[in-house]
Amino acid sequence: MGKAVSLANQKGGVGKTTTAVNLAAALCKKGQSVLLIDLDPQGNASSGLGFDSSMREVNIYNVLIGQIDLADIIRPTSVSGLDMVLSSSDLYGAEVELVNDYSRSTKLRRHVHAVRGRYDFVLIDCPPSLGLLTVNALAASDSLVVPLQAEYYAMEGLSQLMRTVGLIQAGLNPNLKVEGILLTMFDVRNNLCHQVENEIRNYFGRQVFRTKIPRNVRLSECPSFGVPIFDYDPTSKGAQSYQALADEFLARNGAPVESDAETKGDIQENEGSGPSRAMPEQGDSEHG
Ligand code: ATP
Ligand code: MG
Repeated sequence: MGKAVSLANQKGGVGKTTTAVNLAAALCKKGQSVLLIDLDPQGNASSGLGFDSSMREVNIYNVLIGQIDLADIIRPTSVSGLDMVLSSSDLYGAEVELVNDYSRSTKLRRHVHAVRGRYDFVLIDCPPSLGLLTVNALAASDSLVVPLQAEYYAMEGLSQLMRTVGLIQAGLNPNLKVEGILLTMFDVRNNLCHQVENEIRNYFGRQVFRTKIPRNVRLSECPSFGVPIFDYDPTSKGAQSYQALADEFLARNGAPVESDAETKGDIQENEGSGPSRAMPEQGDSEHG
């Protein structure tokens, strides 16, 4: 029975989609089968795996409003072992269209339950809000991974998310667990990053993944080529860190540890401080 895991944080731009795509691909590289569901109207996971908007006419929106079964819109991707359910901007309307539907919070759940048996993991990429879409994802999930950028207001945002998780556990989904908090875009040369890391680790302890994802320009370049980091620059720090995360994730889920996740978890490379850049730079290797 495949485990359903949401990538959730109401804060925008913290690495949810980057983690969804690259953790999914890393798990597949380790022999797991994964279904990735894009539940964000922005459709970044869909485009990041090479599906442009013309290919997304039937998508998760049609599933949520009851027009089609999720099983009927699963597509293979270029990554062996990885299937996908696409999203489109139609999804912006779903919240309003479902407002009078008394079971609106659990629309996704039965569809996920119907297909999870075919996979080892079902990953759900959430939009940056705690609205109906994220509630649907959490109601349909066994656990959530919280990508978190180590910055000043990180703790405040996290408390709000944890309150929502508490409400979901108390009502819609008592079995929901926090799989882990993942520090993303970590800048090893930035003191604030270390302070925030200490604070988060002191408070949340082992719920925080040992693996940290460094800021790595290769990770921000690969979506424009429609491929995960492993098919763009497999030797980059970004690729190594998502492999380490997959090892740690599998170890937490009782799989035998395949490699030295503990040491690889400490990969820390900063490739530029400040906000993430959209423009490619001269890279850190000959690949890509
Ligand atoms: P949203 O809330 O809008 O859905 P998100 O939480 O899914 O955003 P991403 O889209 O994964 O966040 O990342 C935001 C931006 O930062 C993207 O341009 C992405 O390419 C870039 N990015 C993500 N992780 C890293 C990283 N480790 N190093 C460098 N850039 C990164
Ligand atoms: Mg996203």
